[in-house]
Amino acid sequence: MDIKSPEERSKNMAAIHSKNTKPEIYLRKLMFARGYRYSVNSKSVPGHPDIYMKKYNTAIFVHGCFWHRHEGCKYAYVPKSRIEFWQKKFDANIKRDECVRKELMRKKVKVVIV
Ligand SMILES: [Zn+2]
Repeated sequence: MDIKSPEERSKNMAAIHSKNTKPEIYLRKLMFARGYRYSVNSKSVPGHPDIYMKKYNTAIFVHGCFWHRHEGCKYAYVPKSRIEFWQKKFDANIKRDECVRKELMRKKVKVVIV
């Protein structure tokens, strides 16, 4: 049963979509503690990766279950209302992920998806 109001729900969605999510921050702290240095949402790298390590020429993307449609993942559910709206959004996201990955490959940047 869905006990969230529409306002709460859209707030949830916004939170899921935002930068500096908990997993991102967690990963950055972990990496920093191990001596890795990186830039965050680097504007000079295609796709503005969540983490970019210049030294290793490696871009790290932290992909949330919902927005990036993990296959077979229970968190990659489709909302029960406005199904078409969400499906379009998801398709666009998947396409964008794919474009970014190809662009980075062309530029010989290593890509890590978390
Ligand atoms: Zn997932």
